[in-house]
Amino acid sequence: MPVANDYYGILGVRRDAGAEEIKRAYRRLARELHPDVNPDPQLQERFKEVTQAYEVLSDPEKRQMYDLGADPYARAGAPGGFGAAGFPFSDLMDAFFGGGAAPRGPRSRARRGRNATIRVDLDLSECAFGTTRDLVVDTAVVCPTCSGEGTAPGTHAVTCDVCNGRGEVSQVTRSFIGQMMTSRPCPGCGGFGTVIRKPCPECDADGRVRTRRTIKVRIPAGVEDGTHIQLAGEGETGPGGGPPGDLFLEIVQRPHSIFERQGDDLHCTVTIPMVAAALGATLQVETLDGPAELDIRPGTQSGQAIPLYGQGTEHLNSSGRGDLIIHVTVETPTKLEPEQEELLRQLAKLRGKESPPGKFAPGQHGFFSRLRDAFNGR
Ligand SMILES: [Zn+2]
Ligand SMILES: [Zn+2]
Repeated sequence: MPVANDYYGILGVRRDAGAEEIKRAYRRLARELHPDVNPDPQLQERFKEVTQAYEVLSDPEKRQMYDLGADPYARAGAPGGFGAAGFPFSDLMDAFFGGGAAPRGPRSRARRGRNATIRVDLDLSECAFGTTRDLVVDTAVVCPTCSGEGTAPGTHAVTCDVCNGRGEVSQVTRSFIGQMMTSRPCPGCGGFGTVIRKPCPECDADGRVRTRRTIKVRIPAGVEDGTHIQLAGEGETGPGGGPPGDLFLEIVQRPHSIFERQGDDLHCTVTIPMVAAALGATLQVETLDGPAELDIRPGTQSGQAIPLYGQGTEHLNSSGRGDLIIHVTVETPTKLEPEQEELLRQLAKLRGKESPPGKFAPGQHGFFSRLRDAFNGR
């Protein structure tokens, strides 16, 4: 909803006020409300309104349009908003309050190079124990022809004759408070203060060329998916012979066929036959360090977790290792041979009569070895 602002009211002047009166009103209000004097956010809002009002009423054309009912700032929060109508607001403030940008001088052509990131795919055991890799890196390096200067051999950058090496040009503007000086980067040299007349033919004045190189990196034990390793100064060389950025290695851990990693612990599942769970057994299991023997205690339940302490991955920032947790699934047979079925029926009777749950009655060893043989396929 376009709502016109009451610019005369904001400045506190009559509608027929002259240019001098408007100027005086604005200066008085600006001194009182300027953010440097009065940091209160509400007053700063008012300061903006005051400046906007002055911008419209001090310009005869805008004022006339406004008097006819057209308000350039009628829409509240219009895009570009306050100060967007070409009024050099910061210049005004600088001149008005004695501020102003500090002298900048020419800027250097040398800038720091960009960081680079490369992805490194590793197997679980490489993440767990660390590894060394030769990595091929495509980056910018200092141009060998000009050593980063960007100029053709035998030549150098010369002082810019637009700004005489200052890197900026000044402009004098007239305003209601008198003359004011503004400066901006020199268009002749882009602010560098010097001009390259004969660019280096190899790097076209950039001071660097792209190249492929191989670096050897050591990846510490304990890294995981998403770990970033910073190699300081191994990124791209900066333009104009500037210092290089950093190289980041992003670790991607390939999925493992058996182990699932959670932090520095590893998890896996083994499936054992019902009889092995009931009677106990010794199993061969895989670990990161190779095959190992796992004792299944008699009476092991499905879903039970058996930890192998210190068999996980190494810790990245401390000594020691995580654990390997083996989750046991007990497999109940779906099809029984007649002999197996008969033995299980006998077992059910025995346990119903003589054994408390989870314990085998003594003196039944002959029966249990028959049972085990029947299920192990002999
Ligand atoms: Zn060059
Ligand atoms: Zn210049």
